[in-house]
Amino acid sequence: MRVALSKLADPSSLSAPVSLSLFMRLRIMRKVTLVILFSLSLSIAAQLPDDQRERARDGLRTYALPELDLTTYQRTGRWEAEVEVKPDGSVGAIHPLTEDDSFPEMSIAKWTFLPLGGTKLRWRTVTVVLEKDADSLEQPSVGARYESPLTLHIWRRVALVARLPRVDGRIPEKRCAVHDEALQVELLPVARGCLGYPPPDTDGVTGPPEEAEPRELFPNVFDVAFGGASPRATKVECYVCASCRRARDAWRVAHQARQPAQ
Ligand SMILES: [Zn+2]
Repeated sequence: MRVALSKLADPSSLSAPVSLSLFMRLRIMRKVTLVILFSLSLSIAAQLPDDQRERARDGLRTYALPELDLTTYQRTGRWEAEVEVKPDGSVGAIHPLTEDDSFPEMSIAKWTFLPLGGTKLRWRTVTVVLEKDADSLEQPSVGARYESPLTLHIWRRVALVARLPRVDGRIPEKRCAVHDEALQVELLPVARGCLGYPPPDTDGVTGPPEEAEPRELFPNVFDVAFGGASPRATKVECYVCASCRRARDAWRVAHQARQPAQ
């Protein structure tokens, strides 16, 4: 009895088998998770009924999405290739028809067709169309839609709006120092070719020279903004003050009204 107790109390006698089985369990769990994640990623495209119907029309079992750079400026394009399909349905040689070195690797080598058996090779023309970016709040990813004959439309799902930081899912309230009223959040177009965020005291609107405008009277009105860290952004969330806008508009009217008299 004493021996048994001391064995139980001795951590070294227990820890070895426990940690081993835990290690094995973790390994198995990791494998299972990977398999689930992998089949989920495959089934996202495969479960779209339209997608499936279109693929069936072409005898295409699966396609693979290409790696796209999700950090660069938007680009669009179209890419074609003659693809050799082996009797077992796998892809052999790929002969690009579009001369475009900058087009991303299309992963067509990983596509699989319905096996026809025999020994005859088939040649098919595959088209990949890179569509415009789609705005997304999620992590950047690649979207795809398959269309017969053998055309894969792909697009990047990226943030096209440079958003203000959220606190508990909401944009924190700010007040105008001049008018002491709550600022509103507006979507402003991005001013290209400029640096800096938040917007400096320029608004990109033609009219009186900006330095002539008493910005201290209306500090929170802007017509364009700067995209910040995201080169893909086309719109920017920005704090603006309705009273600042009224004050600026009134100032401009008064300023321009004086000009003919000068
Ligand atoms: Zn204001």
